[in-house]
Amino acid sequence: MKLSRYLILSALFGHILVSLFIIVSLFFLVESLFRDNKRLEARETAELAFSSMYQIMKRGWSKSDIEEFLSSLEKGHKLELYVYRGKTVEELYGEIKQKEMDAFIQDTFFRGADQIQEGKGFLRYTMPLIAKQECLSCHINAKEGDVLGVMEVKTNFEEELKSARYTIASLLVMFGVLPLGGMFLLGSYLSRKMTRVVEDLDNSIKEVDKLGDLKEVEKVLKDESSGIREFDELRDSIHQLLQTLKSIAVDREVLEFEIKILEKFILTADFLKDWKYYICAVLKEFNRIVPTVCMFTLFRTNNEGLEVVIFWLGEPGENHKRHLEDYIQEEAKRHFGIESLNFEHKICAGIEIIHDPKDMRIKTKSLVLEKPGISGICGVGFALEEMNITFSLAIESTLTAIINTIGSAKAIDKYTKDIQFYANRDPLTGLFNRTMLIDFLILEIDRAKKEKSTFGIIMLDADNLGAINDTYGNTVGDQLLKFYADLIKEELGEGAFLARYEGDSFVAVLSGASEEDTLQTAKGLVQMLKEKHFVLEEGETLSMSFSVGISIYPSHGEDYNNLLLIAENMVREAKKRGKGYVVVPSSEDVSRMIADISSIGFMLIRAVEKKSIIPYYQPIVNLKTGKVEAHEVLMRIEKDGEILPAGKFVEVAESMGLINKMDLILFEKVMEKIKTSDYGGLIFLNISPKILLFPEFPSEVKRMVTEYRIDPSRIVFELTERETIKNLKLAEDFLKWLLVEGFRLALDDFGSGFSSYSYIKLFPCEFVKIEGELIQGMSAGSEADRAIVRSIASLCKELGIKTIAEFVENEGSFVELRDIGVDYAQGYYIGKPSSDFFKPKA
Ligand code: C2E
Ligand code: CA
Repeated sequence: MKLSRYLILSALFGHILVSLFIIVSLFFLVESLFRDNKRLEARETAELAFSSMYQIMKRGWSKSDIEEFLSSLEKGHKLELYVYRGKTVEELYGEIKQKEMDAFIQDTFFRGADQIQEGKGFLRYTMPLIAKQECLSCHINAKEGDVLGVMEVKTNFEEELKSARYTIASLLVMFGVLPLGGMFLLGSYLSRKMTRVVEDLDNSIKEVDKLGDLKEVEKVLKDESSGIREFDELRDSIHQLLQTLKSIAVDREVLEFEIKILEKFILTADFLKDWKYYICAVLKEFNRIVPTVCMFTLFRTNNEGLEVVIFWLGEPGENHKRHLEDYIQEEAKRHFGIESLNFEHKICAGIEIIHDPKDMRIKTKSLVLEKPGISGICGVGFALEEMNITFSLAIESTLTAIINTIGSAKAIDKYTKDIQFYANRDPLTGLFNRTMLIDFLILEIDRAKKEKSTFGIIMLDADNLGAINDTYGNTVGDQLLKFYADLIKEELGEGAFLARYEGDSFVAVLSGASEEDTLQTAKGLVQMLKEKHFVLEEGETLSMSFSVGISIYPSHGEDYNNLLLIAENMVREAKKRGKGYVVVPSSEDVSRMIADISSIGFMLIRAVEKKSIIPYYQPIVNLKTGKVEAHEVLMRIEKDGEILPAGKFVEVAESMGLINKMDLILFEKVMEKIKTSDYGGLIFLNISPKILLFPEFPSEVKRMVTEYRIDPSRIVFELTERETIKNLKLAEDFLKWLLVEGFRLALDDFGSGFSSYSYIKLFPCEFVKIEGELIQGMSAGSEADRAIVRSIASLCKELGIKTIAEFVENEGSFVELRDIGVDYAQGYYIGKPSSDFFKPKA
């Protein structure tokens, strides 16, 4: 790390500065001592020389004696000694040739005191030779204190000083620089070591991206001691912190993994359709986080038995399969007491499975839904012995989410299968219902047209069901209906299609039958029914007679509407004749009825031309708040002063291809009405599936909402499945357009046809309108209808779709539907369709 290097460098730098200061000080000190010493030496030499000279002089000396003496003194010393003769001496003993006196010597003569002159590497000491008492005996011309001469001592110590400095420097190197070097080396060693540890730690911390990466940091922290106590303590603390962190932190990767998986497990139409595909996706997702081998699901539904699917990441070996099957078998036995299972193996990817099956770690979750009777286990197998605790928890929560979602999907599947079953069957008799009859007739007409053949319709209407219900109660009435339905079914055998047409009537379709065959069969039926009696528990016998009408394709009509209409009229005719009759329409009957139908057609054409189509509004109430929040628009036409309901002409209008035009006329009238009133609620508009074939519809609707400034989100289009939508692609495009423009969508008559369920998956609807007949049936005490209504309500709740019950005709239905959790209600109990919006009674 840079910091420690700086520290060491600055310590070294400080050390060097201090050392330099000491060296320089030492140098100066040594030089100063050296000079002091030289000064002392010069002085002592001068004094010694003088006292020696004095002794010599006492003995009587000559100048040459002195010079000899002085040169002897110089020997062994690096000194130069010289004596200057002063004037007084010259006067007495004469001038001699001597060195010239410079100012410094003259000054010493003058002052009579010793002096020192110093320069670089040299020293000059002068000492005056002062006459004492005893000198006067020889120096007779002098008096005491006169300066007789000056002794000069000169020394040049440059070389000596140099060598002293060298010695000092050598000593300093020895005692100063070497340890400094050692310290430097030690410092850099420690610095390098510390830097490495800190850098390793730093790098491993920078690399931390998920909890697993902390292991690397731990490894670095666990390395051998740095040798620095404080640093090791710091490392221990970081280690401690890591442990705490690991125990409390949730790995980001684990969280992301959970989110990713939970995102997949949302109940969408796609999920319902293909949940196995989603499990495969999850399996691959698991494998990205932790080595995974397989997943499995085991579900048991009350009416469908067991389904076990094992999802493998790659082709499993036989031993893998066997191992997991044994495991699941055990679990199934433990949870549900089931002994033998059938396994479906699904390969989700091509990843090779190399792990030993015995080392596989399996985690499971189970689920039991008492209602609607679904239970299951979901598990995942990992190729891993040990697993970190956060991850283990994450897997548990994901498994819970998975099993709950699949459980819900299964529940929805079960509900919808129930709905599907009851949607095309009559719950009481088990016969096909009216919707199926119409679908079958459409197909049969198609077939007969192609094959140029005929078929016959027999309509049997019970004559006295109302009286039986009144006398013996509805339950007996229902039992009787079922009894006769079974008889008719048995008599007709497999060759005929039999449906319950209305409450007390049945319709049989005899494929390929001529008028004669049909009449024959009808008569045979009437005869057989006359002979049968229903025996009550108490032993009383009851019987029911049937009035029968027939119609034949193509002689009595070429579409199902006309064929049923004619058969219905023939039943009416039979009843007029005294019940229990079979009436075959005469050619007059047929032409009269066809005229009726064409009179509707004529009326419709006129209504379109004159735009005399009238919107009626029926209120829709929010069951929770009791407030009217919406209205459904119902089409009406005036005929001879009478207001005709849509039920009387819509199908004819559809078959004539007029309905789209009529819808647009109606739509414009509604827009106008909303604009000119202060109504602020939603408007439900019926559109025929034929609209898909009418390309102008979208642009016309758009023009209207723009022109009348109506917010499209206030318009809910009701799409009915009365007629199966044949071109799904067209339908999808159209619905996409609706939703993009901001309109909303409702599925009408839900539960009336067997395709309800597929429509709910295909179309993104916001509302589902529950078929009115189911509500009426529920109100009349039919448990099957009640179950279907409940199922639809639960299914829609699961899918976030709002439900509207139709045909709410009494308070009992209103309260029950509210309790079931249906969101809205519509029907005569709340308000009949009227030419104006609903006004609450004051
Ligand atoms: P729907 O959409 O199921 O409309 C409900 C029908 O039930 C209406 O008959 C309504 O008058 C009737 N109704 C409402 N409440 C009750 C009740 O409590 N009990 C009983 N028994 N009946 C009730 P309507 O007006 O004869 O309409 C019949 C069908 O014609 C409608 O069925 C709808 O599918 C279609 N239709 C109505 N208006 C239009 C329209 O403007 N355009 C198109 N394309 N179809 C329409
Ligand atoms: Ca409707």
